[in-house]
Amino acid sequence: MIMTIKYDDKGLVPAIIQDATTKNVLMLGYMNEEAYQKTLKTKKVTFFSRSKQRLWTKGEESGNFLNLVGIKNDCDNDTLLVLVNPVGPTCHKGTGNCWGEENTPSYGFFSTLEDVITERVANKDTAKSYVASLFSKGINKVAQKVGEEAVETVIEAMDNNDELFLYESADLLFHYLMLLQAKGFTLKDIEEELKGRHK
Ligand code: AMP
Ligand code: ZN
Ligand code: ZN
Ligand code: ZN
Repeated sequence: MIMTIKYDDKGLVPAIIQDATTKNVLMLGYMNEEAYQKTLKTKKVTFFSRSKQRLWTKGEESGNFLNLVGIKNDCDNDTLLVLVNPVGPTCHKGTGNCWGEENTPSYGFFSTLEDVITERVANKDTAKSYVASLFSKGINKVAQKVGEEAVETVIEAMDNNDELFLYESADLLFHYLMLLQAKGFTLKDIEEELKGRHK
């Protein structure tokens, strides 16, 4: 890996640390050339600590290392994006990142939908909310709806109407998200189950 890095007048470059899988930003540190080279060599992210005024391998005391996946230079070579697999919480205060947040995966809009379902179920406004109303009928009704939407998806898959197939697929996925939640699970649980099978 050959990179031109523009260090500042103190010989430092800011390094944004990002979880390679969840894409969460974990922390910000500074590297000098020696820290950068050590990071590449040991595959454990090493900074130049401005407070300690020495090389600091993140995790050297706690064991919460940042295992290197890759480093990217920004457009004008003065900021590094360091992709890592973190061991344990990154912040010494115990949270996943240094902004007090947990390092949770995001499934983009699907995560937003999971949150919307949670909110609707909590509010129990069955007159206004389809989700609240279906949940109020009990888990078996939610499960039954998933079955219906699955059958509709299968029927449309056998036809040649892509538009209807997409429509029913969206219905299926949405109702499945509801069923997952009714059973007390999230997409994260599904991810872990699938990862466990992945060899
Ligand atoms: P560690 O590198 O995890 O063994 O932690 C050693 C020391 O570095 C801690 O006691 C903190 O003073 C400091 N430290 C650890 N993690 C962070 C962090 N994410 N941001 C700032 N300082 C940290
Ligand atoms: Zn820049
Ligand atoms: Zn921190
Ligand atoms: Zn449908």
